[in-house]
Amino acid sequence: NADAALYHAKNQGRDQYQFFTHEMNVAVSERLSMENALRQGILRDELKLAYQPQYCIETGRLRGVEALVRWQHPEKGLIGPDQFIPLAEESGLIIALGEWVLREACCQGQHWLKQGYPTIEIAVNVSALQFREGLVSMVSRVLTETEFPPQNLVLEMTESTLMSDANWAIETLDELKALGAWISLDDFGTGYSSLAYLKRFPLDKLKIDRAFVRDLPDDAEDVAITSAIISLARSLNLLTVAEGIETPEQLAFLKQQGCQLAQGFLLDRPLWGQDVEQRLQQAMPD
Ligand code: C2E
Ligand code: MG
Ligand code: MG
Ligand code: MG
Repeated sequence: NADAALYHAKNQGRDQYQFFTHEMNVAVSERLSMENALRQGILRDELKLAYQPQYCIETGRLRGVEALVRWQHPEKGLIGPDQFIPLAEESGLIIALGEWVLREACCQGQHWLKQGYPTIEIAVNVSALQFREGLVSMVSRVLTETEFPPQNLVLEMTESTLMSDANWAIETLDELKALGAWISLDDFGTGYSSLAYLKRFPLDKLKIDRAFVRDLPDDAEDVAITSAIISLARSLNLLTVAEGIETPEQLAFLKQQGCQLAQGFLLDRPLWGQDVEQRLQQAMPD
């Protein structure tokens, strides 16, 4: 880790400094080669989207899917977003990557609509840098190009993305809402949100972070936190989505608390497009 090496180097004598400088070089060059590989990967079409279904808890009906990016690396195989999204954010590649993700998701959604499948929402994750750098015009352009209906698009963003400049966030969210898209606050409860801003942000959904879902319904604190989030959301007129549901007990508890939407391995893992079509087929009226 480059930062740790730097810290040690500064606190050690000259000999050590040489040693850590070498380590730093290795870390920096690994980072650079990974960054180059990712840049190439985007151009070479190595990114893929998985789609994880979200279900209405009350009816069991498929409500939508969340698009989750993966990198099909030529040597390393399939790589999850936790392994490259942070790098994409630090290097600015997230701008190109994020646009690719949105276009791919909207194209896929439009394709499903044209095939006559029931209308579903597609949720796409937006990172902080995208939010600051021309998000509204990018979303507007992609919606026009793909002809995907804006009211079927959900943009997921985290509290830290919105809170870093809350006034700018309100304006940007208003513009996204004006395009017709929905806004969902992702990983809710793990960042810091001022409740005053929660009221001022034009949000549609709160996603309860899976850290609070994991130990339901046994952990008394998680029970308190999730039921508080659900009732807060209800009073603010927001839909709640619980993520990371893995057990029937978690699902039953969330249902009883009035959480409307559910996402998690219990219901479905992230799926490739053709497997989503199976779910869409099942959701067709007879
Ligand atoms: P997220 O937006 O909170 O997405 C939910 C993550 O939880 C996904 O991980 C999903 O596979 C995982 N998950 C869903 N249900 C369960 C469950 O029941 N148990 C467990 N243990 N995990 C579950 P994934 O696909 O690895 O994505 C991780 C994060 O990477 C996402 O968290 C999101 O922050 C980011 N990410 C993914 N795709 C994109 C993208 O296209 N753009 C940006 N900016 N970020 C993305
Ligand atoms: Mg998300
Ligand atoms: Mg989340
Ligand atoms: Mg997350």
